[in-house]
Amino acid sequence: MAGVTLDHVSKRYHTLTADGRPVTGLDDVSLHIADGEAVSVVGPSGCGKSTLLKVIAGLEMPDAGRVLFNDVDVTRWPAQARGVGMVFQDYALYPAREGEDNLSYYFEVRKRTEEEKVRRVREVATLMGIGFDLLLERQVDTLSGGEKQRVGIARCIVRDPNVFLMDEPISNLDAKLRERTRIEIKRLIKAFGITTVYVTHDQQEAVFMGDRIAVMRAGRIEQFGAFDDLYFSPANLFVATLIGTPPMSVLPAVRRAETLELAGASLPLPPDLAAELPAGPLRLGVRPEGWLLDPPGAALTLPIRHVERIYTERAAYAAGDLAGSPVHVLVPLDLPAQAALRIAPDWERSFFFAAEGEAALRVPGPPDLF
Ligand code: ADP
Repeated sequence: MAGVTLDHVSKRYHTLTADGRPVTGLDDVSLHIADGEAVSVVGPSGCGKSTLLKVIAGLEMPDAGRVLFNDVDVTRWPAQARGVGMVFQDYALYPAREGEDNLSYYFEVRKRTEEEKVRRVREVATLMGIGFDLLLERQVDTLSGGEKQRVGIARCIVRDPNVFLMDEPISNLDAKLRERTRIEIKRLIKAFGITTVYVTHDQQEAVFMGDRIAVMRAGRIEQFGAFDDLYFSPANLFVATLIGTPPMSVLPAVRRAETLELAGASLPLPPDLAAELPAGPLRLGVRPEGWLLDPPGAALTLPIRHVERIYTERAAYAAGDLAGSPVHVLVPLDLPAQAALRIAPDWERSFFFAAEGEAALRVPGPPDLF
């Protein structure tokens, strides 16, 4: 196992953009993943997630910067020398072999002992849970897509990789199998303490799989931290609105003395908050749970467009628009039918951003639970 460090890594592709510049894969990315840590990578399509994996794997060479495994510079090492395990969306197994052979193939090639091979294959099969033994006995071309993917992941683990890289490994599976497979993967990487980089577009999956999450945009890492850091202390407006579902509402506002003018209302600010914020235009960010319902005193009126009731989470979200921006409010599941809600931001849980650009002026930080 190894810790992975990217030190000012840039990668450009020599295809040209419409305005004649090379396509940016990675732009000055620095990142340290601790030995045994699992990191999720999220970001919009084309932001460089796969390029990041390929540079770690040795499938793409960076134009600048270094890749280190522990303290060893592997930047110029070929992929085969790095001991990296990779699982992609469409993982190809050696089709003519049985599942179990697939797992043990590596040991034959690497001349590991029979005993070692059997032990590790058993260990992995046990961790993969009920039914996995049966998969191992089957011919690969008789396995379903989901089963192939699970055998593929297990094969990777059996090889005892220095680093395990996964690119949307389960996004082709149906919801139920996805849920089960992500638990299996997590159990495996934790049991073997494998350093893992996990690319996904699914936020929930990113939170579940990663000890920390790297948020990428346009080849850069916008923020790298635990979910709570990203959620309560986003580095900028991009991270703030990317993380969280339904997303944070962002509304234009103006601070005048100790009031905030917002969507036609004038809301009194606590004096210490007013002192912290610049006077004049800014933007207020409120997450669905950051609204007070039916507050005493000044409030906004949100005309309700629809209510989405999520029975599995015992919660509901009322949606509408304020000042031309979409707003989602967490409401009780049994909220009676009504045309509008009286709401006000809970200042303790509010975010403030500059009126232009993406700078965060004030973020609440993680809640103090005790
Ligand atoms: P993601 O995985 O986040 O969708 P990628 O790392 O695949 O993003 O791509 C980052 C950028 O680099 C995109 O603009 C993509 O079109 C471009 N790119 C990726 N691979 C290549 C390649 N082999 N040749 C040219 N451009 C590429």
